[in-house]
Amino acid sequence: MAEDNLGSDWQSPGKGKRFNISADSEKCVGCRVCQTRCSFHLAGRFSFSDSAVGITWNPQQDRFEISFNVKCNACGRCVNSCLYGALVAEKTEEGHSRWRR
Ligand code: SF4
Ligand code: SF4
Repeated sequence: MAEDNLGSDWQSPGKGKRFNISADSEKCVGCRVCQTRCSFHLAGRFSFSDSAVGITWNPQQDRFEISFNVKCNACGRCVNSCLYGALVAEKTEEGHSRWRR
């Protein structure tokens, strides 16, 4: 994982923007669709290393861990791509006003 990984207790770098993104690692199946979606958004290609969301196997906990790095702009695209409900987007005050515009 990249050095700028902020970990599972991540507070969105985009906090105060459109969404606050949170993760529930218990629901993650490790499909990595979120990573492909994010990398296409950020870098225009499908590349796990270009993704701002990280998926890693934790053998001690016997589950996948979800984390985010500072490249995340809280766009919410990864949330829409997750079919398992492991990512959640909560619209912020600014997000509400943007939608009204
Ligand atoms: S967060 Fe969702 S889309 Fe991403 S790897 Fe986990 S289950 Fe798949
Ligand atoms: S919210 Fe957007 S930038 Fe952040 S991890 Fe998800 S897809 Fe990537």
